[in-house]
Amino acid sequence: MSTSSKRDSLEAIGEFGLIRQLKQQWSASSPWIVKGIGDDAAILKAHQGQQLLISTDVLVEGVHFNLAYQTPKDVGWRAGVANLSDIAAMGGTPLYLLVSMAMPARIPPRHIRELYRGLQAACGPYTVELIGGDTASSPSHIFLSLTIVGSVQANRALTRSRAEVGDRIYVTGTLGDSNAGLRILQTHSKHFRSSSLSAVEKFLTRRHVRPTPRIHVGQLLADRNLAHAAIDLSDGLSSDVGHVCEESQVGAEVRGKTLPLSSQLRAFAQRNNLDPMELALQGGEDYELLFTAPAKHHQKVLAVSKQTKVPIACIGEIQPKIFGQQFERSDGRKQKLAKKGFTHFSNR
Ligand code: ADP
Ligand code: MG
Repeated sequence: MSTSSKRDSLEAIGEFGLIRQLKQQWSASSPWIVKGIGDDAAILKAHQGQQLLISTDVLVEGVHFNLAYQTPKDVGWRAGVANLSDIAAMGGTPLYLLVSMAMPARIPPRHIRELYRGLQAACGPYTVELIGGDTASSPSHIFLSLTIVGSVQANRALTRSRAEVGDRIYVTGTLGDSNAGLRILQTHSKHFRSSSLSAVEKFLTRRHVRPTPRIHVGQLLADRNLAHAAIDLSDGLSSDVGHVCEESQVGAEVRGKTLPLSSQLRAFAQRNNLDPMELALQGGEDYELLFTAPAKHHQKVLAVSKQTKVPIACIGEIQPKIFGQQFERSDGRKQKLAKKGFTHFSNR
């Protein structure tokens, strides 16, 4: 180990040295913060006429990310997006972030600063301030826990529980790209260069490592009172449709022909003998939004798409609960919408 890398080790700078660096790197300036990093708790001014949204996520090395094929910056970006996307799904504005982490001593502080740089970059388009966290050592793996605070106009938050029979089901962007990108990354060795990837592979891996939270779409849907229910696609379309159905006590029909698939996903599926529809239905971590809206709002939904430049596709309809959750294949045959998205603690 060189002298400079010895000096830049967790052992050398310690917990508080690291916190100081991170605080400096991501300094808060919002007038809404009375007290940020540095005390036992942060103090925030309340926003009038607004409700607070608070969500937390845990990320475990080897489960949610893998430094064998992701850079620390990628990990930070994705961690940020996972949280931002939860606020997007509620129709809110992200405001504050708390970051807790447990790090093995072998991790160089520059990797942690890089991870924060990824987080900062994902939060860049919004004014998100870092207001606290916690730092501890870990015997072997990295654990990250992010808590995000956002706000939404009182009683305008989008929830999973207000879908109504007859609503149209919409999704933003294209589905399945992230899952395909992950598959590509997993087949590459630790030292692969992205320049060795084809254009299709580059697009798909980028969709995995740099997903976009659909904050603006969520905000407009909430502000304009267009959507009845919303969720972000983190587990996979089939699972996430299921979550809305369960919470809203309704059924759903999803039409395969209408699922938005990128040409890159189709090319990847063809080359690897995979069903692109299956990738779109089961692949998680797209961080697109799924929402339901009454048919009378269709034109206004299209206007949101136009304004935000985010494609929005109608992929089905909310049905009575007794209908269950069905999927109409491209050949017209109907089948149960099977949930095979990733779940922890099971191999289902
Ligand atoms: P406590 O003893 O109350 O846990 P700490 O000494 O751990 O407080 O933290 C000091 C300050 O630094 C607190 O404001 C805390 O929120 C913040 N902090 C600690 N770790 C992090 C981190 N990884 N990222 C951002 N802020 C942090
Ligand atoms: Mg602490």
